[in-house]
Amino acid sequence: MSLANKVKAHFTAAFSEPPAYIVRAPGRVNLIGEHTDYNDGFVFPLAIDRATFIALRPRDDNRVLAISLDMDDRRAFALDDLQPPAEVGWIDYLIGVAWVLQERGYALRGWDGVVSGDVPIGSGLSSSAALELAAARAFYCVSGFDWDAKAMALACQSAENEWLGVNCGIMDQMISAAGLQDRALLIDCRSLETESAPLPAGSAVVILDTGTRRGLVDSGYNERREQCETAARHFGLPALRDIDSETFAERAPELDALSRKRARHVIHENERSLRAHDAMNAGDAVALGKLMMESHISLRDDFEVSSSALDAIVDCAQADESCYGARMTGAGFGGCAVALVETDNAKDFVERVSQCYIEATGIQPSLYVTRASSGAETVWP
Ligand code: ADP
Ligand code: MG
Repeated sequence: MSLANKVKAHFTAAFSEPPAYIVRAPGRVNLIGEHTDYNDGFVFPLAIDRATFIALRPRDDNRVLAISLDMDDRRAFALDDLQPPAEVGWIDYLIGVAWVLQERGYALRGWDGVVSGDVPIGSGLSSSAALELAAARAFYCVSGFDWDAKAMALACQSAENEWLGVNCGIMDQMISAAGLQDRALLIDCRSLETESAPLPAGSAVVILDTGTRRGLVDSGYNERREQCETAARHFGLPALRDIDSETFAERAPELDALSRKRARHVIHENERSLRAHDAMNAGDAVALGKLMMESHISLRDDFEVSSSALDAIVDCAQADESCYGARMTGAGFGGCAVALVETDNAKDFVERVSQCYIEATGIQPSLYVTRASSGAETVWP
């Protein structure tokens, strides 16, 4: 049964009538442009074909009653009495979205809903942004304000930053809001301008979850952020986005060895993202794959956010004859890698790489062939 049918059936059973709306919002994977978002740079993600769905109906009062099938839980809150989370649970993502939308002047109405998704939780594919954007879309359906993907992405990012206390950039919410079928979205994280490009014909995107999670993520992330800000300040620039690789090559000796490596990653990664956009527009899977491999080496050696598990799965993928390129994706230290492979051989690729990774590490990975899907939308009626 599809997820849309699943939430619809559960809604009908719980509320004794069919839902008035079904909405969905996808998770995402970043093809290239890693650790560039907080440097005001470029990212190049796609919305994946795994999403969070909500079946809902409007209420006459200002309450939200939500049932999570995945958490086996039922929670309610009132829109005029939002309580900040003591300990973050799934309902706080809905409350945070309600809070930020009201802060921004949207008049909201309550709803009854059933929530379920198939974005793996906590593996770096942004199930949190999927839930936030699905919640925003639910409020849109019952409240009747205008849907502006960029405004919704910014609102949901604020919910995550300010209500949930997670220091994330704009990428996850932006791609979950504005993704396009069979296309990746180049996002300028400074202007929030986007440009889409088609994935090369005959190629498929495969997500490779190493099955490892590392506690280092938060401290490692904050430390990298500070190092980048310090390097930008040294050059007298607002962000590393504002220096090109030639100028950097001239001035790099001014920096200490560690700052130089960190800055070099970000500056070259921005340029790789723009070149990836050109490669995609040219339908050049080989060039795109090569950029992904360069990105991985840079993240591994200069930015130092890879891990032995990520390196192992990327090595297995890159050694496979049907792979154009592979790299770690997301913050790093564990989590997922992403590969571009020949569509016709994607299934065999998954088999071979799983085997190779198990032999190298003894860990069971999860690999999925994915398709670029649309951003947050109403799927029914
Ligand atoms: P991710 O990398 O998947 O975004 P996060 O820790 O940022 O991981 O967000 C995961 C949290 O989001 C979960 O612990 C849960 O609270 C919430 N969440 C995500 N998807 C769902 C879902 N389908 N149903 C209920 N809660 C969800
Ligand atoms: Mg998240």
